Amino acid sequence: MSDALRDRTLQVLVDVPVDKALLQYACNTLAVMSPTTTRADLLRRGWALFDQIAVTLAVRPACGEGCHWCCTLPVNITDVEADMLARHVDPARRRRLLDNAARAEGLDDAAHTEALITCAFLDDGRCSVYDDRPSACRYWHSLTVRACEFGYGRAVTNIPLHAERVGLFKTVMMATAMVVAKRFNEPPRMGREKGELHAMVLRALRRQTNRGQPRRGAR
Ligand code: SF4
Repeated sequence: MSDALRDRTLQVLVDVPVDKALLQYACNTLAVMSPTTTRADLLRRGWALFDQIAVTLAVRPACGEGCHWCCTLPVNITDVEADMLARHVDPARRRRLLDNAARAEGLDDAAHTEALITCAFLDDGRCSVYDDRPSACRYWHSLTVRACEFGYGRAVTNIPLHAERVGLFKTVMMATAMVVAKRFNEPPRMGREKGELHAMVLRALRRQTNRGQPRRGAR
């Protein structure tokens, strides 16, 4: 991601204030769980809660089915998200992951954007893991397809994001991180442990192989 794009995105992410009432509501909603609730369960519930609340927003983003201009941008994900994506990997997908991870290795965000590395989970212009797509893909709510198209492969661009949706997503994800931290008695992570999507999914596959776990049933 270019400095300009990153600054614009960060500006949206930082400028939108966290709605404390919404944060409390999300925490209360997510805190209702069973003893077997996993991190992946809570993340899925956080995503679902965002989708549910976002329906009420009057202004809709330009993002729609089959639009994939942003699927060459660098995507950073957590271990939990990587485990979820690893469930969808067959041998052909693994080869694409290996190719992309090799191409992306050592690139900064700007170079990665210009390299046009199409996400290994994109099939015929559609996300093959849509229900399990990571948070980074979910908060990207563009207000104009033309800006995304213009920005394709360009490290310097300015894509206006839907600040209200981004703020809502940020708030719900903050609540999710707080509930996960409380549930597992650990400090809130807030995404600091993220890494590049392809490398992270390959790491998750190796982790699962080392543990002798089947791919289905990510925890
Ligand atoms: S996970 Fe899906 S939405 Fe995200 S970059 Fe890959 S194909 Fe696109």
